[in-house]
Amino acid sequence: MSHEMRSSRIPGFYKKSLDERLRIVGEWAGLTEEEVNLLRNLGNLPEKIADSMIENVIGGMTYPFAVAVNFKINGRDYLVPMVIEETSVVAAASNAAKMLRRGRGIIVRAGPQEMIGQIHLVNVEAPYYKAMKILEHKEEIIDHAKQQDSTLIKLGGGPRDLEVRVLNTRMGPVIVVHLIVDVLDAMGANAVNTMVESIAPLLEKITGGEARLRIISNYATRRIVRALARTDPEDVGGKDVARKIVEASILAEADPYRAVTHNKGIMNGIIAVALATAQDHRAIEAGAHAYAARSGVYKPLSTWELDEEGMLVGSLELPLQVGIVGGATKVHPIAKIALKILGVKTAKELAEIMAAVGLAQNLAALRALVHEGIQKGHMRLHARNLAIMAGATGELIDKIAERMIGEGKIRYDYAKKLLEEYLKGENK
Ligand code: NAD
Repeated sequence: MSHEMRSSRIPGFYKKSLDERLRIVGEWAGLTEEEVNLLRNLGNLPEKIADSMIENVIGGMTYPFAVAVNFKINGRDYLVPMVIEETSVVAAASNAAKMLRRGRGIIVRAGPQEMIGQIHLVNVEAPYYKAMKILEHKEEIIDHAKQQDSTLIKLGGGPRDLEVRVLNTRMGPVIVVHLIVDVLDAMGANAVNTMVESIAPLLEKITGGEARLRIISNYATRRIVRALARTDPEDVGGKDVARKIVEASILAEADPYRAVTHNKGIMNGIIAVALATAQDHRAIEAGAHAYAARSGVYKPLSTWELDEEGMLVGSLELPLQVGIVGGATKVHPIAKIALKILGVKTAKELAEIMAAVGLAQNLAALRALVHEGIQKGHMRLHARNLAIMAGATGELIDKIAERMIGEGKIRYDYAKKLLEEYLKGENK
């Protein structure tokens, strides 16, 4: 079939078996048998689970699972599972964790695990009056929401409060109702979505309006985690480095272009733990970046300062929506192992560890930036990657990488040239 004739319209694709779907895609893309077999390898995810987690599955993709060492958080030691495709992140986290082991290590606190469920009511007459009327029925509405999740209620969680706002929008006034739910150890989206959908008809009856959107907000401003770290400048490379780390923090406060990259460094750590434990990392990212912009200007989520004793002190504050029950956390066998390695018993504790990792990751990145530049640490791995890209295998990878580093020519074209030379036997 010529490429121009192909149609991506494949009726019932989702109903076909994994192998059948893979065969279709294999033909479509002209995959070799070797490529098909590689894709078909689901690694440590059982086929049944993979095929039920998402739709249209045709294979698996394995990422490396690593463990960051040296973490002391709230006085307790942790080995932190991280899954990520980027080099140096795990090494940097382990390194910074070592610098932050004084006293009880990194101190972290998460508050109640409250999420916000939203209902947007449109076409409401006398919206301010109706908003008050909703509050008049608060108990009844909360009681109704409670009936949706007896497990959560039995465990001590559930709906806590109801808040109402009137928004003036381009389509006129809209009532926004927030149902505050303590979701305990769940990320909470399913739990909260069920509740807001269930109370929507009640709200329509009270207001005479129409419930348009009924879903959780990923702006989890009631699920904030705070992390603090204090270290001797000597531990990070001396007073000069510590002072420059503080300056880097100030530059991020003044410049959103820098702040985004500053926060990306924090999320390197947080998302790696999120992936290892099968969290909804899009929710975490969306919430974190919205929080960074809560003043109206995008700001760094963390701050580094020098205290009165000349110690380098860092603080981080962000919302984290994570779970150890529900979602994929209890479905993916590797996520379960990751939680076992961490030894966490609650979502709150998982959030605290993630914030601690975020702060350590941030310190490592800033230190590398002001100390030796970010490329030095990345260089060896970058050189190896280039060698692999050029086609090197086995011991040639390191040989070519070393040559490129030694000669200060870390480039793809040079890696190819060196490989050709080695293969021709010109370089021994
Ligand atoms: P879930 O519904 O699978 O599990 C939560 C339920 O587990 C609770 O409702 C409760 O009944 C039960 N439970 C048992 N023990 C518990 C405990 N100790 N603490 C709390 N609950 C306990 O999962 P969820 O966390 O409600 O939803 C998460 C999923 O929703 C994720 O897969 C996410 O990707 C998805 N999702 C997200 C969004 C979003 O973020 N916008 C939207 C839709 C779906």
